Amino acid sequence: MRHTNDISTDVVRLTDVVKTYGGRRNSVTALDGVTIAFPRATFTAVMGPSGSGKSTFLHCAAGLDRPTRGSVLLDDQELSKLSEVELTKLRRDRIGFVFQAFNLLPAFSVQDNVTLPLRLAGRRANRDAVERVLQQVGLSERRRHLPGELSGGQQQRVAIARALITRPAVIFADEPTGALDTRTARDVLNLLRASVDQAGQTIVMVTHDPVAASYADRVVFLADGRLVGELRRPTAEAVAERMTHLGAWAEPVGAR
Ligand code: ADP
Repeated sequence: MRHTNDISTDVVRLTDVVKTYGGRRNSVTALDGVTIAFPRATFTAVMGPSGSGKSTFLHCAAGLDRPTRGSVLLDDQELSKLSEVELTKLRRDRIGFVFQAFNLLPAFSVQDNVTLPLRLAGRRANRDAVERVLQQVGLSERRRHLPGELSGGQQQRVAIARALITRPAVIFADEPTGALDTRTARDVLNLLRASVDQAGQTIVMVTHDPVAASYADRVVFLADGRLVGELRRPTAEAVAERMTHLGAWAEPVGAR
């Protein structure tokens, strides 16, 4: 049985997080008192209209940016108490990142891209662990290829392997399927889903896509810097309907 209220099961916990940009005259409140917890081995999608604070949320939760006030706990560590050096180390050791643009090093092989976070952390790449993660993403046969020799979907799977290799407490994914066609996107989402179900990974994913969001256990909705609702066991239809009510698609969908 899962005790979602038990402190120890929450990998990330934000309490009353406020983020304000700019000075006194021209300030913008990007996050306006956000409180939310992400339990271990769960997959959460974060959605909201453009400008609702999704990127700011991800940056604050992942220690890439500091909130103006409020608390962010990751693995029971209060991020605001950490120095820049400690934060950098925590991001490197405890957080995996997956971006829309893959962000692989073009001159490095698949295997060297995947093991890079370990080498940056001064850790040895255990050969079995590397093999396991390459198998997990279906790229064992491609380990010596360069990113440019792979399809977009394969490149994103390399990026996911790179995120998984450190066994991070949490993976933050920012529009991970934004640059992929529908079928390839589905493969990548199935892979993320499997890492939650089979390896107990915790994932927080920002997305515009209701189909992508439907792979999550829960979708949380942001509007004007506030959490305005959530859906558990979401279907793409229910997510799309909720987004319509938030005015997320004021622009024609084809224009995005
Ligand atoms: P989303 O990712 O949902 O599009 P953002 O988090 O990027 O939303 O932005 C939330 C609000 O904060 C917007 O009004 C945006 O213009 C503002 N904002 C974001 N980053 C900055 C910044 N560096 N300086 C000033 N305003 C910012």
